[in-house]
Amino acid sequence: MVQKRDFLYEGKAKRIYQTDDENLVWIEYKDEATAFDGLKKGVISGKGYYNNQISAILFAWLEEKGIPTHFVELAGEREMIVKRLEIIPVEVVARNVAAGSLSKRLGLEEGTPLQRPVLEFYYKCDELHDPMINEYHIATLELATSEQMDIIKKRAWEINELLTGYFKEKGIILVDFKLEFGIHQGEVLLGDEISPDTCRFWDAESREKLDKDRFRRDLGGVEEAYREILNRLKGGR
Ligand code: UDP
Repeated sequence: MVQKRDFLYEGKAKRIYQTDDENLVWIEYKDEATAFDGLKKGVISGKGYYNNQISAILFAWLEEKGIPTHFVELAGEREMIVKRLEIIPVEVVARNVAAGSLSKRLGLEEGTPLQRPVLEFYYKCDELHDPMINEYHIATLELATSEQMDIIKKRAWEINELLTGYFKEKGIILVDFKLEFGIHQGEVLLGDEISPDTCRFWDAESREKLDKDRFRRDLGGVEEAYREILNRLKGGR
């Protein structure tokens, strides 16, 4: 059994602890939520539990489908053990339907299906407010090598294909989502989380939002939406 050790650091949605194995870290998912570059703050009761359970189900399923991830095992209701990563400071966003910042940038009405899915990169840098960047920026800042970027792009497209089909079976449209990758023992692994905090999920029939947009846009029913996603993944529809 892996043992939880010293606190390492705290992010906006998680706390990270060392373990007795230097290759593994212990993640605690928090109920605190932020949006709009940290300007909006709140608590979504139960979020830590839902995001931990949802991420665990999705990471385990992606692993089965051949996507290497940092996930090792659940360690409690809101805790999981993962492989220690050196995070590549590039957020990878994949999109299937226009929403959020893409709707604004390209003048596409929210909900417009994209003729082709889109991949975007953002520089994970608080001081710069996570600007959108391209592969030339990534190369010149040496955020990732071109070999790593080739792996990241290939995996991101595979993950999009896999998750789109997976969620479709659960009656959910995967509108868009954000991924983070990191290096563990020289290998690129999928890291961070996959949850209603980092994805846009719409009910396929009612088009109701089942994700963090309910918090961002004060739509109410935030906790219920997160719970609904977990229930659908567990098979109850
Ligand atoms: N996203 C995220 N973290 C961020 C920014 C975006 O997880 O710091 C996710 C977001 O939940 C959505 C997708 O990435 O699923 C695309 O977000 P968008 O660029 O539209 O930005 P937003 O409208 O959320 O500001």
